[in-house]
Amino acid sequence: MNYTWEQLADSVARCRLPFLDVTVGLVWSSAGALLIDTGTTLTEARAIRADVEEMAGGQIGHVVLTHKHFDHVLGASVFDGAAVYCAPAVAVTMAEHAEHLRADAVQYGANPREVDDAVAAIRAPDHPVNSSVIDLGDRVVSVSHPGRGHTDHDLIAIVEGAERTVVFCGDLVEESADPAVDSDSDVAAWPATLDRMLDTGGDAGLYVPGHGATVDAAFVRRQQRWLAGRVTNSHR
Ligand SMILES: [Zn+2]
Repeated sequence: MNYTWEQLADSVARCRLPFLDVTVGLVWSSAGALLIDTGTTLTEARAIRADVEEMAGGQIGHVVLTHKHFDHVLGASVFDGAAVYCAPAVAVTMAEHAEHLRADAVQYGANPREVDDAVAAIRAPDHPVNSSVIDLGDRVVSVSHPGRGHTDHDLIAIVEGAERTVVFCGDLVEESADPAVDSDSDVAAWPATLDRMLDTGGDAGLYVPGHGATVDAAFVRRQQRWLAGRVTNSHR
């Protein structure tokens, strides 16, 4: 195996990529595998693909991209047989603004040559959606947009039917650092978005941040208070 995969529930796992500690989620069943986010480079994505084939014993038929940031989307072209689900804004960024993805990736320390390779390989995702239910046979993954927050288009992926509900939060939740707030973010709307996300996973759910260790509902509520505090401060 190229990466360490953490088992979250039966047939649900994730790894944390060494570069930027990005979460890549995996859900699989006899009918195939679904990947959540894809890393920054083709090298990372190929290593993920090899791991998944070994672990899940099948091809990746579905990819969900949580939002448009480079560290979540640039590896997607490696999964060329897969249906790629993402918010419409992600499809637009990949099809028309790849130079922004490139600039951000290089600024964050990715190898420029590797980034060029990933950008050259980009293909526009074929399933732009704001919500979807992806049936993997004995596993169903619900994809939805709980509201504005880290970006104006974050998608979450909810896996039910395991011992506990697992929610892949994208960067709506971060554990290894404070939530990343930038010009794409809507801090005022973010706390209510987290309420809607918490409704999907409940108090007993397992929440998987875009960066960092898995957390529980209480952690998400603390992060929600931190975000709400930022809104209050910005109005002083
Ligand atoms: Zn992000």
